[in-house]
Amino acid sequence: MTESCLFCRLYRDGDHVAATEGFVAIRDINPQAPVHLLVLPERHIDSFREIGELPPDETKRMLEFVADVAAREGLTDYRVAVNVGPSAGQTVFHLHWHIKGGWS
Ligand code: 5GP
Ligand code: ZN
Repeated sequence: MTESCLFCRLYRDGDHVAATEGFVAIRDINPQAPVHLLVLPERHIDSFREIGELPPDETKRMLEFVADVAAREGLTDYRVAVNVGPSAGQTVFHLHWHIKGGWS
C-alpha cells in the first residue's frame, strides 16, 4: 500500500463494483465504452511489466476475477486490455486491467 498511489487508495476506500480476496473492480471515471471497468490487485505493482512479482496462484485468481466481473456485468463480448508504459497510454502506475464492453 502506497499512500501516494491513487489505486492503492481506491482499493482501500473506493466504490467497488465487485471484490474478492486481494482484488477489486471499479468503474472507470472516464468510460471509453458503455461498460468500462478496472480490475486491480491489492498488491501494488507498477505495471504489467512486473507481473512476475505476483505469485502464480494470485495471477490465476486475478484473471479468473476479470472474467467473473465481466460475466457479472452481463458482458458476453468484451475487450480486456492493459496499457504498459506512458507511450502506450498508461497513466496510473498500479497494475490494472481494463474491461470494456456493452456495445450493441
Ligand atoms: P491507464 O491510462 O493507466 O491504462 O488507465 C487508468 C484509468 O484510470 C483511466 O482509464 C482513467 O480514466 C481511470 N481513472 C483515473 N482516475 C480515476 C479515479 O479517480 N477513479 C476511477 N474510478 N478511475 C480513474
Ligand atoms: Zn498502488
